[in-house]
Amino acid sequence: MATTTRFLQSSFFINFFLVSQCLFVLGASQDFDFFYFVQQWPGSYCDTKQSCCYPTTGKPASDFGIHGLWPNYNDGTYPSNCDSTNPYVQSKVSDLMSRMQQSWPTLACPSGTGSSFWAHEWEKHGTCSESVLDQHGYFKAALNLKSKINLLEILEGAGIQPDGRFYSLSSIKNAVENGIGYTPGVECNAGADGNSQLYQIYICVDSSGSELIQCPVFPKGKCASSVEFPAF
Ligand code: 5GP
Ligand code: 5GP
Repeated sequence: MATTTRFLQSSFFINFFLVSQCLFVLGASQDFDFFYFVQQWPGSYCDTKQSCCYPTTGKPASDFGIHGLWPNYNDGTYPSNCDSTNPYVQSKVSDLMSRMQQSWPTLACPSGTGSSFWAHEWEKHGTCSESVLDQHGYFKAALNLKSKINLLEILEGAGIQPDGRFYSLSSIKNAVENGIGYTPGVECNAGADGNSQLYQIYICVDSSGSELIQCPVFPKGKCASSVEFPAF
């Protein structure tokens, strides 16, 4: 009798262990591995065939702006639009509004305040990391990364300026690597004249949204070996 009880007890614990492992694996597979912190050069967003529109709050600073903080998997794939029951609510970030207008300006047409860009980024990307950062935490984490990493200063310090000249892709990557300690991803777009131009810089961040890490995988950059850095 005692043996039967012990057997039942141990098989209960083994089953409990296996079920919890399964739940852990299933839960983990819905999460993400790291973030791309993506900044855009406004001169390159605007110097395209489709052009751009300044936000209703005025022409943005001549500086990189935040595009987004994007949860990603180590294999290069990424989750998106993870929770339609958690839409963007502007009042949750009212204390961050002036920093968002300054550092995360929208350049899409027609002109807007930024709220539709921020809503898009939260709903497409932010809802996929809400186990780590709620809406306020998500925007604050991106703003803090922007304050910590001054890409324009880093590039200018290496003689790479937004002056419409061409710079080698490797010199851009090296400058950022020397500035932050990690190799960035660089994405280019086509200017109105068809030139390959410096469009976005991707920096990898751990899943807490605060520490920079070596990128597990790089985005497809579509850059020529020499790229234009347009003025803005
Ligand atoms: P595109 O096709 O212009 O490269 O990217 C369009 C959009 O897809 C991006 O703005 C972003 O929302 C998403 N996206 C593209 N590449 C990645 C990626 O590597 N990781 C994540 N998380 N999102 C991406
Ligand atoms: P993603 O490429 O992140 O999936 O989508 C970007 C979306 O945000 C597009 O629908 C685009 O029209 C909108 N958007 C608004 N402002 C900006 C901006 O300044 N830059 C970029 N890349 N997209 C913007």
